[in-house]
Amino acid sequence: MTPRIAKRTQGFPVTVFAEFSALAVQHGAVNLGQGFPDYDGPEEVKEAACRAIRDGVNQYAVSSGSERLRKAIALHEERFYGTTIDPATMISVTSGGTEACFDSIMGLVDPGDEVILFEPYYDSYAANIELAGAVPRYVLLRPPDAAHPDTWWFDEGELRAAFNDKTRLIIVNSPQNPTGKLYTRAEMELIAELCQRYDVIALADEVYEHLIFGAQRHVRLSSIPGMAERTVTVASAGKSFGFTGWKIGWIVAPPPLRKAVQQVHQFVTFSTAAPLLEAVATGLGLPDAYFQKLAGDLQAKRDLALAALRQAGLSPMLPYGTYFIMADIRGTGFTDDYEFCRFLTREVGVAAIPPSAFYGEEHKAHGRSMARFAFCKKDSTLKEAAARLAKLPEALRTRR
Ligand code: GLN
Repeated sequence: MTPRIAKRTQGFPVTVFAEFSALAVQHGAVNLGQGFPDYDGPEEVKEAACRAIRDGVNQYAVSSGSERLRKAIALHEERFYGTTIDPATMISVTSGGTEACFDSIMGLVDPGDEVILFEPYYDSYAANIELAGAVPRYVLLRPPDAAHPDTWWFDEGELRAAFNDKTRLIIVNSPQNPTGKLYTRAEMELIAELCQRYDVIALADEVYEHLIFGAQRHVRLSSIPGMAERTVTVASAGKSFGFTGWKIGWIVAPPPLRKAVQQVHQFVTFSTAAPLLEAVATGLGLPDAYFQKLAGDLQAKRDLALAALRQAGLSPMLPYGTYFIMADIRGTGFTDDYEFCRFLTREVGVAAIPPSAFYGEEHKAHGRSMARFAFCKKDSTLKEAAARLAKLPEALRTRR
């Protein structure tokens, strides 16, 4: 007889990332699924981690993160956004952006409260809302169309209708995984107006802040008038330095909100890997040129991936940030994204993520006509993927 387990976990699937990374390994596919670079971040940051271990920084860090890292985070906020952050009362360091989001939702939301999130969303948000006993309210992001060329957009009326007296939190992920959307200032101002009218807190997941292309500059939601007091901003060393396996993220928030998040963090992981905190502090001190090159190199990879997807007969949508591309797969004859992504992984040798995993039940159909490709890969990996993708039209013909 199997012992009884908690009901709250029973509806959870194995994450789509774990499923498709395993499938990629099984079939020797080039993994453009789960978003992680197949190259390392800066040498001096790696060296700083090794040095910290050798120097004996090997016991529990302070729960909210080492003082050196919190100071480095505050300096980074000042350098890039011109804001003054008190390292003692406005920062908590977590095991990745994913823990930061979990702690924030658990710390800020009561059972029965409503949380607004835009679909498609990063999958852990919905699971976190469920664990908190809260109720998700979805607002659909719509793909580019004639009236909104090249940008995902939402209907203002739908967003307004999602807010009500039960709304406690809205999650805004900009640049957005999986669409690559950057919320415009006008969109952020609308969100700010509604947050203030309904006394709602914003969880601004901005982990892709340094992964933005062209002349665009990242806008922090917390910088919109009225939002500094009601925004928890999430950032990530995994994304900004290319060390996703280190699992170092953090939040920046006004003291009362940060305290609520910290209360959860102290009982979830207490603190995170001490030597890596020192290394991330070194990373945050790298010159502007590092961050510019990070975005510039990634833009070139984006363009390689866009060309490969077009050549394969898919219709990729231009991302403005992140390292993801959504592509329309309707031209392939597939009507289900999971079936397409499994076919692509097995028969073509390229793994991608089916985005219906990023929609609530009601809107899943919107994700079925697309696939998400990660392009944070070596040029040689992208070229191999391009060569394999070039065989997609032939693979589709033999399938029919
Ligand atoms: N953020 C990564 C992605 O979207 C995956 C993180 C994970 O595997 N949990 O691909």
